[in-house]
Amino acid sequence: MKYDYLIVGSGLFGATFAYRAMQAGKRCLVIDRREQLGGNVYCEDVEGIHVHKYGAHIFHTNDKQVWDFVNGLVPFNRYTNSPVANYKGKLYNLPFNMNTFYQMWGVITPEEAQAKIDEQKAEAVKALNGREPQNLEEQALTLVGKDIYEKLIKGYTEKQWGRACTELPAFIIRRLPVRMVYDNNYFNDAYQGIPIGGYNVLINKLLEGADCVTGVDYFTAKVSDVLHDFEDERLLKDAWREIADKMVFTGKIDQYYDYRFGQLQYRTVRFEQETIDTPNYQGNAVINYTEREVPFTRIIEHKHFEKFGAEVYANPKTVISREYSTEWQAGMEPFYPVNDARNAEIVTQYKALAAEENNVIFGGRLADYAYYDMAPVIQKVLQMSI
Ligand SMILES: Cc1cc2nc3c(=O)[nH]c(=O)nc-3n(C[C@H](O)[C@H](O)[C@H](O)COP(=O)(O)OP(=O)(O)OC[C@H]3O[C@@H](n4cnc5c(N)ncnc54)[C@H](O)[C@@H]3O)c2cc1C
Repeated sequence: MKYDYLIVGSGLFGATFAYRAMQAGKRCLVIDRREQLGGNVYCEDVEGIHVHKYGAHIFHTNDKQVWDFVNGLVPFNRYTNSPVANYKGKLYNLPFNMNTFYQMWGVITPEEAQAKIDEQKAEAVKALNGREPQNLEEQALTLVGKDIYEKLIKGYTEKQWGRACTELPAFIIRRLPVRMVYDNNYFNDAYQGIPIGGYNVLINKLLEGADCVTGVDYFTAKVSDVLHDFEDERLLKDAWREIADKMVFTGKIDQYYDYRFGQLQYRTVRFEQETIDTPNYQGNAVINYTEREVPFTRIIEHKHFEKFGAEVYANPKTVISREYSTEWQAGMEPFYPVNDARNAEIVTQYKALAAEENNVIFGGRLADYAYYDMAPVIQKVLQMSI
């Protein structure tokens, strides 16, 4: 009856691990505290539209092995991320490229655009009077100049971090790439897209054959909550070794150690979802609102991830999500780690304990306290010996 692996968390790390373990003939029990499988890539069906419940997810990678692996489970569509920025009602293409520079200054050739950027960068460097940039604002001004910074970076960054750019460290922005070609494709990667039928198809394929129990938290669940035939009232966290040989833990590492070195901090996003009686609300999946005065950072229109051209109009309704960047508090979804000295010191202590554990594998964004895109998470699991 014993499982080879108890996998805590059914996100991409846990699900990919389960898939590989099952390929090796192992038995897996997967639990998740949420009511659904898939972690942050879970999509909810609203009016026939796959709504990215935990934020817009666009798969992109340069790694052919990862791309072939996911496409072997479910084919991906041709979605290409080309976000647009709205600053005070005027639209600019992202990432910064010749289209953006034309919209900003009316320049047509790369030479004219480069001259404009160089002129504004030189002004910023002169203002520094020989000193290094002391904060994000000064850094950004020296990298791209005043117009791009003020219209496309300042307000958005301040909303994301909840602080003025003059109070944010310069190192957050090391590079601000500018493209001297007319190319709105946000990612430089060779491969990108969305699974046809949505991310749930991918997750279900990965977890096919595993025993999965949702709505149970590792820290509070009893054995009987996950193994329904047993009247075992002990806590799973105390008794799991009798159920499985090894555990894969993808939850919060600080919680695993009962916060003994302190709580790790996060930033999170609040989503305001709306269904609208129009087939096409904004004409693009992602529109960033880059001025400080608009309280949300982006509006996502979910149908554009999977419907193209005339297909958009086949459904008379659409679903949008306004995203508000928010300070994380207990009870909220922990999304982005806060990369500062305090959190780095705390996580190092937890990781030292984790390295000593027998038969517990820590992985994924919460256990590593790291921001990972989807492809690197899968890549990590593909590289593990299971
Ligand atoms: C807003 C947002 C947008 C993103 N957009 C992109 C994108 O466009 N492209 C991209 O490549 N990546 C994107 N990512 C990153 C992507 O979400 C992650 O790479 C991926 O989800 C990591 O998978 P994971 O398994 O590590 O974590 P998760 O998906 O978070 O899965 C962890 C699972 O563990 C469960 N769990 C936690 N604690 C417990 C517990 N105590 N008991 C039981 N279960 C527990 C959780 O409920 C969750 O289901 C985005 C992330 C965020 C936050």
